[in-house]
Amino acid sequence: MVPPIYQTSTYKQDGVGGLRGGYEYSRSANPTRTALEECLAALEHGARGLAFASGLAAEDCLLRTVCQPGDHVLIPDDAYGGTFRLFAKVLSGWGLSHTIVPIADIAAVRSALSATPGTKLVWAETPTNPMLSVADIAALADAAHEAGAQLVVDNTFASPYLQQPLALGADFVVHSTTKYLGGHSDVVGGAVVAAAADIAEQLAYTQNATGAVAGPFDAWLTLRGIKTLAVRMDRHCANAMRIAEMLAAHPGVSEVLYPGLPAHPSHKTALGQMRAFGGMVSFRLAAGEAAAVAACGRTRLFTLAESLGGVESLIEHPGRMTHASAAGSPLEVPADLIRLSVGIEDCEDLIEDLRQAI
Ligand SMILES: *Cc1c(COP(=O)(O)O)cnc(C)c1O
Repeated sequence: MVPPIYQTSTYKQDGVGGLRGGYEYSRSANPTRTALEECLAALEHGARGLAFASGLAAEDCLLRTVCQPGDHVLIPDDAYGGTFRLFAKVLSGWGLSHTIVPIADIAAVRSALSATPGTKLVWAETPTNPMLSVADIAALADAAHEAGAQLVVDNTFASPYLQQPLALGADFVVHSTTKYLGGHSDVVGGAVVAAAADIAEQLAYTQNATGAVAGPFDAWLTLRGIKTLAVRMDRHCANAMRIAEMLAAHPGVSEVLYPGLPAHPSHKTALGQMRAFGGMVSFRLAAGEAAAVAACGRTRLFTLAESLGGVESLIEHPGRMTHASAAGSPLEVPADLIRLSVGIEDCEDLIEDLRQAI
């Protein structure tokens, strides 16, 4: 029932050139990692999945395979801070240029694509981190393809249980499996799933050539997490919806960002492409930055921590924590913003905890 943890770096060969089951060295392939990679490809309906040491390692492998120095990409104006840093501080030095666009605004994406002919990739995150805006994946895929570009969707926040970007026309999905796929805050990992087999071969080549692979125990933990993805997501979504409703009615809260609320600007788009709205909720405190920082320090069930997607609820202040590296850039987040990763605990307890903290 469970693939073993093949905790080995190498494999005995049946004579020179006679590989057992195709395995020779665990950077190139390891059976536990293969089990995870096949699972990821199946969940996202892709030609092939590849598992990495982290989400950022997966992104880096994808970008340095699909793009060349001199290429140009569109990136979102709201995204995981580390993704922005990879483009702005690392790959820019390698020769990859980018334009920052509000990715949920298809007209803005189309005009950026016509302003920069030859754009290689459109990079989307939906829902975005931490502002939870939702982009229409099918419309983005059309816009990208008409301009000769390909579409990447970071599906970390939704997970393949809530949304399947390749079925909507995206060319690649990336994940931080650290988050909902792993689901228990006990492993760091990443994944790329490609729709097409030929480019997947090139990705596998880069994965082996640069080496940021998932180790066998990490692959095993991630597979174990994935078994309960559906039941965990159902509870994350139900708890998040009730918390968003409570916050929306709270006098101390100036704005709630949750795509499940009918008042959310992209609620309709979310309804059209997602099974439910996820476990992430962001909100702003009317009393401002100091009050938001203080509230983050007062919760007892929500743990003050970075990351997300685990069974335990987390709270954080994006401006000073996860998105501190975006300060002064177009991706800077409001100072009075609080982000919740709503866990699977009893919802009344979570609501009570937030009320006393606010
Ligand atoms: C965490 C995260 C990443 C980066 O993944 P790591 O596993 O931390 O390297 C990328 N995208 C999103 C949306 C994330 O939340």
